[in-house]
Amino acid sequence: MTEDILKRLNGAQREAVLYCDGAQLVIAGAGSGKTRVLTYKIAYLLKNGLEPWNILALTFTNKAARAMKERIGQVVGEHIARCLNMGTFHSVFSKILRSEATHIGYTSGFTIYDQGDSRSLVKNIIKDMKLDDKVYKPSSVADRISMAKNQLLLPAAYANSAETVMTDVQRKMPAIKDIYLRYSERCRQANAMDFDDLLVNTYTLFNTNEEIRLKYVDRFRYVLVDEYQDTNRVQQAIVMLLTKDNQRVCVVGDDAQSIYSFRGANIDNILNFTKFYDNARLFKLEQNYRSTQNIVRAANSLIRHNRYQIPKDVFSEKEHGEKLVLKPAYSDKEEALIVCRDIQKIRRTDKCEYSDFAILYRTNSQSRSFEEYMRKQNIPYRIYGGLSFYQRKEIKDVIAYFRMVVNPDDEEALRRIINYPARGIGDTTLGKIAGAANANNVSLWEVICRPDVYGLSISKGTMGKLSGFRSQVSQWIERVVATDAYTLGRDIIKESGIYRDIYKGQDPEDLARQENIDEFLGGMKDFVDTRMEEDQTAYVMLGDFLQEVSLLTDLDSDTDDNQPKVSLMTVHSAKGLEFPTVFVVGLEENIFPSPMSCNSIRELEEERRLLYVAITRAEKHCILTCAQNRFRYGRIEYDTPSRFINDIDRSLLNIEGQGGVSKMFNGYDGGQRKEWMQNPHPVASQFKADPKPRIVPVRKESPAPEVFSESFKRDLNAASARNMKRVSEVT
Ligand code: ATP
Ligand code: MG
Repeated sequence: MTEDILKRLNGAQREAVLYCDGAQLVIAGAGSGKTRVLTYKIAYLLKNGLEPWNILALTFTNKAARAMKERIGQVVGEHIARCLNMGTFHSVFSKILRSEATHIGYTSGFTIYDQGDSRSLVKNIIKDMKLDDKVYKPSSVADRISMAKNQLLLPAAYANSAETVMTDVQRKMPAIKDIYLRYSERCRQANAMDFDDLLVNTYTLFNTNEEIRLKYVDRFRYVLVDEYQDTNRVQQAIVMLLTKDNQRVCVVGDDAQSIYSFRGANIDNILNFTKFYDNARLFKLEQNYRSTQNIVRAANSLIRHNRYQIPKDVFSEKEHGEKLVLKPAYSDKEEALIVCRDIQKIRRTDKCEYSDFAILYRTNSQSRSFEEYMRKQNIPYRIYGGLSFYQRKEIKDVIAYFRMVVNPDDEEALRRIINYPARGIGDTTLGKIAGAANANNVSLWEVICRPDVYGLSISKGTMGKLSGFRSQVSQWIERVVATDAYTLGRDIIKESGIYRDIYKGQDPEDLARQENIDEFLGGMKDFVDTRMEEDQTAYVMLGDFLQEVSLLTDLDSDTDDNQPKVSLMTVHSAKGLEFPTVFVVGLEENIFPSPMSCNSIRELEEERRLLYVAITRAEKHCILTCAQNRFRYGRIEYDTPSRFINDIDRSLLNIEGQGGVSKMFNGYDGGQRKEWMQNPHPVASQFKADPKPRIVPVRKESPAPEVFSESFKRDLNAASARNMKRVSEVT
C-alpha cells in the first residue's frame, strides 16, 4: 500500500516523503509538487502507524486543508483523514485557545474580533484619548498594532523599543504605544481576541506554560506546514515551540513566492530554517508538473531579475506549448472585451469548461469592468475576495447578537446591537456606560448588569429600557447551553425584532436582505445537521457556529451551485491554485507594480514575485493584458506598460497588438499602440524607484507622460472618447 503512494512521486519527491528523521525544509519552485509531497507524506505517516490526531498540518486556507484531507482520505480512508488536525494557523490554534483559555485569563467563549471590530475599537480609543483622527487614522493605527503583534512585540516591549517609538514619532503618531496598550486592555475586558491575538496568545500560552506546551508536543508528533515562505515571526515561533524537542517538522515553501510581507510574513523564516533547527535537511524539487515548458521558462526569466533568492533551476517536461501572449488594449473596456472573447474562443478550441479560466488582478477594484462584460456576454463567473457574505450589514447585526449571547462582555457586539432595532438607548447613554466601564476596568455588560455599583447616572426612563435589554439578552444567555445553535439563532432573530425590521419593506434591497437572512438561517441548519451526522453524540451550540464563521474567509466558502464558473481574484488569493488558462490583467505601471511598492528594491522584488506567482498558476495558456487608458478614481488615467513585461524573455512572449478585437479600433490607434509598446517604461529593468503615481486627467492642457510622442499626445483625448463610444456600440 505504501508502494502505491510512492509510485505517484518522482525521485526527489519520494526522498522528501520518506525522510522522517528530523527537521526538513522542502524548497522548490512553483508547481513542483510541494503540496503533493505534504499530502503524500501525511498519507505515508498514517500508513506507517502514526495516528491521525498526532499529525498537525497547517495550510494557507481552510479550503486547501479540506482538499488535502479529501485526497488523503482517498488513500487511507475518509474516517481516518477526518481525525487529522488540519487547517490554517488561525483555525487550529483558536480551537486550542478555547480549551486552554483560562490559562491566559480568558474564558472559552471569547469572541474573535474581525478587522472591522478592531478598527472600530481603535477608533473609539482615539476618540476617548481626544486625539485627532485625521492624524491618527484608525486603519493606519490598527495596521501598526497588527504589525507589532506579528513581530511578537507586545505593548510593553513596543513602548520600550527605541526603533518603534522613533518611527511613530517620525510619523507624527507618538501616542500609538498608548493606544496599543489600551487596545489590549479593552480586548481583555471584552473577552475578545483579534486575528493576530489568536497567534500571539497561542505563543504566550506555550511559552509561559511548560506543562501545556508539552501536552501539545506530545499530541502533535509530526508538524507539517505548507506555504512556509508566507509565515510570520509569531507563526514560526509557535511551530518552533511545538517541534524543538523532537524536530519532527516538515515545512515546504518557495522563497520566490513570498508575497505577504505587508502582513508581516518574513522570508527570513525560510532562509534561516537551518539555523532554527541544527540538523535540518534541505530538499529541492525542480521539476514543474503544472505548466508547459514555455510558461515555466518565461516565469524563470522574470524572477531571475530578483537579487534576493535561493537559486533554483525549475524545468518542465511537458510540451513546449504556446508562448506567453501580451495583448495591449486601448482601454480597460477593450481589455475586458479581449479577455471575454479569448475565454469563448479557447473554450471552443480546447473544449473546456468556464472553471478552467482565471482572471487575476493586482487589486480587487479591477474586477468591475470584467464583471460588466461577463454579465453582458452571459459568461458565468465567481469573484473571490469581494464583500463576503458574512460582511453584509444584516448578517453582521445578527452575528453581533449571537456574539453577545455567547460572550456578553463583547464590547463591539454590544455597541452594534444595543440600539438596533431601535429601543431608545442613544449615544449619550452608551457613552456613560463606556465611561463607567473604563473607569472601573470592567466590561460594558458588567455595568449594564449592575448600574448602581458602578454609579451609572441615567434617567429612570432610560434605566427601564436598559433593564429591558438586559433581561432579553439574559434569557438567551440562559438557553445557550441547552438549546441547539439553529433553534436559538432563529429565536434570537425573531425575538430581537430584527425579523420584523427586515421583513417590513418590499423594495428590492429589502428583499435582498430578507433572502440573506433566510440563506443565513439555512446555512446554520446545514451546519448543525452536518455536525450531528458526522458525530451522533455531538451537540452543536451557538458558540460552535460562531467559531466556524468567525474564521471563514471568502476564499473558503464554496460556490452556491456547481455550475462551472470563471474565477476572478487577486494574485494574492490565487496562491497554490492552478488553472489551464490564466489571464493576468492590468499590467501597467502604477497598478502592477503597485505605486505603493515602488519605494525600495525589496518592495519591487515582492511585486515581481507576485507576478511570478500569477504566471505560474497557468497550466497551458498564460495571457497578459494591459490598457493604455483606464477609468479609475472617477477619471481617465494613462499609463505605460508594466516594467515587469520587459523582464520576461522576449523569445517567450508574443505581443499581439493587431487582429481580433483590436481590429475594431484600427482606424485610429493601431499605429499608436505599436509606438506605445515600443517605448518601454523609462525605468524598465532598473531597480529604480518611480514613487509618484502619474495621474493624467483628461483635460486639454494636461501633460501626457513623456514616453508618448507629440502626435500621440494630440490624439489621446479624442481617441479615448471615440473608443468609449465604439466599445459601447459593439456590446
Ligand atoms: P505551488 O508552488 O503553486 O504551491 P506546488 O509546488 O505546491 O505548487 P503542487 O500543487 O503540489 O505544486 O503540484 C502542481 C501540479 O503538479 C499538481 O496538479 C500536482 O498534482 C502535479 N504533480 C506534482 N507532482 C507530480 C508527479 N510526481 N506526478 C504527476 N503529477 C504531479
Ligand atoms: Mg502548493
